Amino acid sequence: MKVTTTVRTTCPRDCYDACGIVVKLAADGTINVVGDPEHDVSRGALCGKCSIGYNGVWRDPGVRLTRPLKRVGPKGTGRFQPIGWDEALGDIAIRLNAIRGRDGAAILQTHYTGTCSLIAGSFPLRFFNRIGATEVDPDTVCNKAGHVALQLTYGESTRGFDPRTIDGTNCVMIWGANPSTSAPHVHQYWLSETPAPKIVIDPIRHETAAAADMHLQLYPGTDGALAFAMLHAISAAGRIDRAFLATRSKGWEEIAGQLAACTPAWGEATTGVPARLIEDAALLYAAGPSLLWMGQGFQRQTFGGNAMRAVALLPAATGNLGRYGAGFLYLNGWDTRGVDAGYLTATHLKPKSAQTISHMDLASRLEAPETEAIVTWNNNIAASSPEQRRLRRALERDDLLQVTLDLFQTDTANYADYVLPAASFLEFDDVVMSYFNASISAQVKAVPPLGESLPNQEIFRRLAAVMGLTDPELFEPDAEMIATLLDQAKPGLTFEALAEAGTIEYPPEPGVQFEHHDYRTPSGKIELTGSAFVDAGLPRTLRLGRGATRPRRAAPALPGIEMADEQQLRQRPQDPEATWRGSGVRASRRSAGARNRQWGTRKDWQPYGRAHAAALRFCRGAAGRHPRLQEPLDRERRRRQCQRAQSRQ
Ligand code: SF4
Repeated sequence: MKVTTTVRTTCPRDCYDACGIVVKLAADGTINVVGDPEHDVSRGALCGKCSIGYNGVWRDPGVRLTRPLKRVGPKGTGRFQPIGWDEALGDIAIRLNAIRGRDGAAILQTHYTGTCSLIAGSFPLRFFNRIGATEVDPDTVCNKAGHVALQLTYGESTRGFDPRTIDGTNCVMIWGANPSTSAPHVHQYWLSETPAPKIVIDPIRHETAAAADMHLQLYPGTDGALAFAMLHAISAAGRIDRAFLATRSKGWEEIAGQLAACTPAWGEATTGVPARLIEDAALLYAAGPSLLWMGQGFQRQTFGGNAMRAVALLPAATGNLGRYGAGFLYLNGWDTRGVDAGYLTATHLKPKSAQTISHMDLASRLEAPETEAIVTWNNNIAASSPEQRRLRRALERDDLLQVTLDLFQTDTANYADYVLPAASFLEFDDVVMSYFNASISAQVKAVPPLGESLPNQEIFRRLAAVMGLTDPELFEPDAEMIATLLDQAKPGLTFEALAEAGTIEYPPEPGVQFEHHDYRTPSGKIELTGSAFVDAGLPRTLRLGRGATRPRRAAPALPGIEMADEQQLRQRPQDPEATWRGSGVRASRRSAGARNRQWGTRKDWQPYGRAHAAALRFCRGAAGRHPRLQEPLDRERRRRQCQRAQSRQ
């Protein structure tokens, strides 16, 4: 391939990394999409999924949707005929206007993170706000429990630690996240290059867990119990930061009252993690400054928000907040880079009567005759929403108007009355902001939209016009919006300058999470317990695990403490022939072996290596500074290593 042009752009997928991309273009129209070697996070490589997809189906007119389609067969059979944009938008406009004239809330709209660029991912909400459609809350199918738990405790959930402060940390604890798969470059570089000891808490021995100094391989559903056992160990060692709790939080006394019974031995019986490992991890974390990465995995269980609340106690109890190298991260939102979500989605257009429902209720809402239309964009509900069979049956309703925007003929698109072809991120300009790093990146148009496909935002501009809507917010051009967003983030930053750089870090200096202890709770303090939880329908304090009808027999019962759901528990590696708990099904040797490969061996999950022992001496104050921490994080050396790796490619 003879490259004539290169374009630097950014991957906008739902991923922590937000990798830099270089698109190589040849005169004959062929393209090659590769990683940007100058991108700090990904350093010249894309993940396998995107390397294949972006050089394959993403530009394959035989696979992509290239023209608007109208259904000609029964719903769900995927029989369509191509039509023009005018006909498609004209038909849809007539039907949506008729429904809207009766009740805008009868129109459901579902969306998620099909693309995470700012405009393509948010501009359509201006349209739906204007027509008063019912939004299916996107997070309810993913990470809502964690957001709510953190919002109640800390007042917010999208202002996490700045990853650049890792050079000041003495411990990185990753709880319920798997960076090796879902943040592969963060795993490969950010995590592996820090000399700080790492603790991973996860039922699965994934690559990040296997590479950590300590892996606490707990039974699924016992996160809350483990957090309390760790707090007990921290308290027993006199490492609770009482001064911090007294000045910055409220409600600790009620938590402290629960701790006495949660000994490490109880923790071992409950979670399956050896008591010694619980104590060691707890003390290492408490010594601080420590970073706590709270993944989305462990809040995806019954009472997941409760588990998140329990884990969220750790930074407060140990004073691991408000100082360099300390803090926790769930997600870093666009607001950390100055973006005004109200502007982006024109919330002022939304009628007060507009409703939001959960994905948990989507199937039943679709069954109800009051729901007259559904528009799906940036997601695939027939594959990713709960109660699929019921939901698909509901999508077969003949009197339900369904419009689907997508790049591909998805399961959901098969049920649609109209399928509208969306352009891919390679085909229009936009802005990307990682939800991990403090970055602002350019998504730059490298090639024209495939066939007649259009960016999401342009589809809704055209639909708004055909429907007779006139609000200027519905027609704001991309270039104008990009300029406004960049100006909000970094005054004076132009898209041209950003496109040349690819990605910039902003603010330029690392920030400290809660540096000013400005917690956005009603009391202005971290709220560990209290009436806000009760008002939200949650327990005032915490339940340790899932409220199962039958507690696990192995765990000693404690008054007021309910255990993990037996259905969620899985066989442990040291017990390959045991009955699958809760299911009554006896595992075969073969399947146990397969699981053991995934879970690791008992020896594997007690990683008392030299580094671990040194880390423990450090956290116990026996040997001063951890030997691995005496090596400063050398950015220049890292850059040289990166260059050498690139030159070998
Ligand atoms: S690792 Fe994430 S950001 Fe990077 S190419 Fe893959 S999906 Fe995109």
